[in-house]
Amino acid sequence: VTNHDIPSSTERAAATVREALRGHKAQSPMREMTFLESVDRFFDDAAKLTHVSPALLGHIKECNTLLEFTFPILRSNGQIELIRAYRAQHSHHRLPTKGGIRYDVRVSEDEVKALAALMTFKCATVDVPFGGAKGGVVIDRTKYNDVELERITRRFTVELIRRNAIGPSLDVPAPDYGTGQREMGWMKDTYEAFHQKDIDRIACVTGKPINLGGIRGRESATGLGVYYGVREFLARPDVVQAYSIRKGAGVAGKDVVVQGLGNVGFWAAKFMRDMGQARIVAIAERDGYLVSRSDEGLDPTQVKRHLAATGGELRGYVEHRQAEVGVATAAAAMGGSTTATTTTTDTVAPVEFVPGNPAEALELDCDILIPAALEGVIHAGNAPRIRASVIAEAANGPVTYGADAHFRTQRQLGVDRPLIIPDLVLNAGGVTVSYFEWVKNLGHLRFGRMTRRIEEKTMRAVVDVLERHGVKLAARDLLDLQAGADETALVRSGLEDTMCTAVEETWTAAKQSGCDPRLAAYSNSIRKIAEDYGTSGIFP
Ligand code: GLU
Repeated sequence: VTNHDIPSSTERAAATVREALRGHKAQSPMREMTFLESVDRFFDDAAKLTHVSPALLGHIKECNTLLEFTFPILRSNGQIELIRAYRAQHSHHRLPTKGGIRYDVRVSEDEVKALAALMTFKCATVDVPFGGAKGGVVIDRTKYNDVELERITRRFTVELIRRNAIGPSLDVPAPDYGTGQREMGWMKDTYEAFHQKDIDRIACVTGKPINLGGIRGRESATGLGVYYGVREFLARPDVVQAYSIRKGAGVAGKDVVVQGLGNVGFWAAKFMRDMGQARIVAIAERDGYLVSRSDEGLDPTQVKRHLAATGGELRGYVEHRQAEVGVATAAAAMGGSTTATTTTTDTVAPVEFVPGNPAEALELDCDILIPAALEGVIHAGNAPRIRASVIAEAANGPVTYGADAHFRTQRQLGVDRPLIIPDLVLNAGGVTVSYFEWVKNLGHLRFGRMTRRIEEKTMRAVVDVLERHGVKLAARDLLDLQAGADETALVRSGLEDTMCTAVEETWTAAKQSGCDPRLAAYSNSIRKIAEDYGTSGIFP
C-alpha cells in the first residue's frame, strides 16, 4: 500500500459519490420538496394543535448536531477510496440519542436530518426514553465485498468514537436500510476494543446478534409492530367508518401490497399473512413486482428465499416455483416419498412477474398498501392514482407532505381518502425492542433469569414432543430453550402493549383535534418533548 496516488483515487471516489447524489436528486420523485422540508411541514401543521410557545417549538424542531466526515478505506484491489458518512443527533432532551445506520448511495445531509427528527418524534410517540438520531454511509453496498464492508463499518465506528458520538449513554446506533445484525456485531466489537473499562459497553449498539448481547425478536420487531398497529387501527369501528375502509373492520381477508421485501417488509408481510390472515397480492422489489391472483396469495418466505438466491431479483420467481412444484408433483405421482406428501400437488398458483418500474405496484387495487423501503415513494405525482384503502407506513417517511396534502384535500371535498397509519406509530416496534435490548444489556441479566422457570409441565410437554421425534436434548439446550421462551414472550408482550397504547393515544388525539393520525402522533410527541424541555429549564 505504499505507492498509492491517494489524492487522485479519493477524488475519483468522491466524484462517484457526487454523481450518485446528483443522480438521486434528478430522479427523486420528491421534487416537490426535500425530505427534511416535508418532515418540517408536518411538524409545523401539528404544532398548531399544541399550546407550545413558538420559541420552544423552534428548539424542538431544529436538528441539534450534524456530523459529516470522510475517511479512507483500502479496497481489496489495493485502491484507496474515500467514504463519506453522517450522524445526525436531532434532540438531546433524553439521552442517549438513538437511531439506525443506513448504507445507501442516496444518504445525504437532508436525509439523515429528516430521519433523525422522525426518530425523536417516534420515540416520544411510544414513550421510549431516547432522543432521535440517524446515521448513514454513502455507499452502494452491493459494490463492496464482505471484508471491505467490515473495514468500512469498523472505521465508521472509530470515527464516531473520536467524536463522542457512540456509547451506551451517549448515542446508540441500530440497523437501518442496508445494515443488519452483522454490521452491529462489528460495531460493538470495535467499540469494545476501545472501551474495555466501560462495564456497559455492549449496550453501545442494538440489533446485535443474539450471542453478542442481542435480544430475541429484534429482527422481526418492526414487522410485528406493523402488524399490531394495523390490527389495532382496523379493529376500531369509528376508524373504519371515518375512512370508509373497504371490506370493513379487521385484517383478515384483506388484500395487501408490499413494496420492498427487506427486513421490515418481509416480517410485516409474514405477520399480516400468518397472524392476520390477510392475502399478499403483490410484492415489489428493485426489478419489478410479483402479482398473485390465487386465493392464498404470495408466500413472503418463498419470495424471500428466491431473492436471497438471485441477489435481490424477483425475475425468475415464477419459473422457479413452477419447476419446484413440478418436481414435487412428479415425485407424488411416482408413489410419493414422504417429502412429496407434505408438498402441495396442485398446479402452481397463478403468479405473474411484471418487470420494470416497481413503483407501479403502489398503484395496484388493494385494501392495504405497505410501503416498506424508502422515503418519498408516494408523492404528489402518484397520490391521485393510489387505490388502497389503507396506507401502512412501515418505512420512514414514505408519504410526502405533497401527497398527504392531496389526501387532505380529498377529505375536504368529501371524497374517500385512504387511512394513513403514520410511521411515527407504525414502525416504532423496531426502536421499542431496541430499547428492551439496551435495558437488558444494562441489567447484565437475561430477561426471565431471576424469575421462575417456565412451568415444569409446559417444559416437559415440549421435551416429550421433541423426544418422540427423535430429538435428544442436552441440559444446555434445555436452558437455551427456556431462556429463549422467556425472552421471546416478554419482548412480544411488551411490543404488543406498546403498539396498542400508541394507537389508542394517537386515535384519541385525532378524534379530539379532528385531524388525521399523523398530525395527532406528531402533536402528542411535541407536547411530551415540550414538557421535558420545559421542566429541564435552560442551561446555564
Ligand atoms: N432504524 C430503525 C428505525 O428507523 C430502528 C432504530 C433503532 O432501533 O434505534 O426506527
